Amino acid sequence: MIKDKISKIVSLCKRRGFIFPSSEIYGGFGSSYDFGPLGVEMKRNLKQAWWEEMINNHDNIVGLDAAILMNPKVWEASGHLSGFSDELVECKECKKRFKQEEIKDNKCPECGGKLFKPRKFNLMMKTFVGAVEDKASIAYLRAETCQGIYMNFENVLNSMRLKIPFGIAQIGKAFRNEVNPKNFIFRTREFEQMEMQWFCHPKDANKWFNFWKKERINWYLKLGIKKKDLRAVEISAKQRAHYAQKQVDIEYRFPFGWGEIEGIHNRGDWDLSNHAKHSGKDLTYFDEEKKEKYIPHIIETSIGVERSLFAFLVNAYEEVKGGRTKTTKAVKDTEIVLKIDKKLAPIKVAVLPLVKNNPKIVKKAKEIYKTLKPHFVCLYDQVGSIGRRYRRQDEVGTIYCLTCDFETLKQNDVTIRDRDTMKQKRVKIKDLVKVLKEKLEN
Ligand code: ATP
Repeated sequence: MIKDKISKIVSLCKRRGFIFPSSEIYGGFGSSYDFGPLGVEMKRNLKQAWWEEMINNHDNIVGLDAAILMNPKVWEASGHLSGFSDELVECKECKKRFKQEEIKDNKCPECGGKLFKPRKFNLMMKTFVGAVEDKASIAYLRAETCQGIYMNFENVLNSMRLKIPFGIAQIGKAFRNEVNPKNFIFRTREFEQMEMQWFCHPKDANKWFNFWKKERINWYLKLGIKKKDLRAVEISAKQRAHYAQKQVDIEYRFPFGWGEIEGIHNRGDWDLSNHAKHSGKDLTYFDEEKKEKYIPHIIETSIGVERSLFAFLVNAYEEVKGGRTKTTKAVKDTEIVLKIDKKLAPIKVAVLPLVKNNPKIVKKAKEIYKTLKPHFVCLYDQVGSIGRRYRRQDEVGTIYCLTCDFETLKQNDVTIRDRDTMKQKRVKIKDLVKVLKEKLEN
């Protein structure tokens, strides 16, 4: 049953253009996935919602877009080259590899076979920069986006004339050579992170940690994640990331169990102190008013784009047995509705002529589509019965369906159908942009 829900979502994602396996015609490539036309819209919406939340809805946070490739010394100083590793265990029989934490009773979780001794396995992905593949030209694909932020701490501070406390936010790719990527887009080797680093006075770090924990939980709730499926878990000292003094994971209840979607970390002065030591550059902050010098402490909020998108998809997926639109026989079986929040839904409006064999109605519907397209992500569909077309839109979470019918030609109005209530209302064509904008923004 649990597997069932995931496989239904995976299949919907492929069938309707959200997510495809990468390089599929060559048999795929491990845990790599491509985002299709609807997936990329949803991903853009998710990133935009985060960006607006962090930058527009908070004071004193600015953005950054740092390079993926950095001087390898960054990763020495950050502790990733020595400390960013998993314990890898390999089965002697089926040769499958697992993280040590996945092993119970010292047996292979897949075939029950005997295991080799655990080995340390660094998660950093290596690459070569320049023409010669020697040691001097080894570089790493960043394993977390935040190091680019620390590298620019001074540049941003000075160029933007900021005062502590302030934050720097960034969205970008990260790479980890995961031992056991799994669960669709939950754990992959290439993924995107949305990270915000909050620089504050050491004395205030605890206060800000609690502040950001609350803010971040509220963000998910505002975007429709059900409260019962969200929790914050404090991570013990033994299990914490090597840089964290305190860590809370925000977890979502996936069909395969609770899984982290965001980490809130108190990184203390770990990063700036180590970078100061390794680079020889003074990274202390001087508070002009208080005449006080100190290394700022950092509170980090770090969320995975694909992982949280997966959580939003699972959260939105509903099946209605017997069908919700009773217009034709064909829709009497189970119907899928993706109840994605308005902000995140890939398509906002679909324009549907009631019948496709009336040239006047079709012409009018196409005109309306053209008028709306510059304002909203819109789709035009005239294939199949109107019931089937509503159903196709519900399945991908389209917020409003506009139908042009015979009345439209006389009254210059259309019906707007709401995805969740299925209620229909007539609206004048001249008012459509304004009415839809109001509806989508509130
Ligand atoms: P996990 O324990 O699941 O490996 P983590 O604690 O190492 O995750 P962080 O380093 O805190 O993760 O990264 C912050 C966020 O980045 C995670 O909450 C997750 O959403 C995302 N993330 C981390 N690793 C992956 C991955 N391999 N695939 C997809 N998203 C990831």
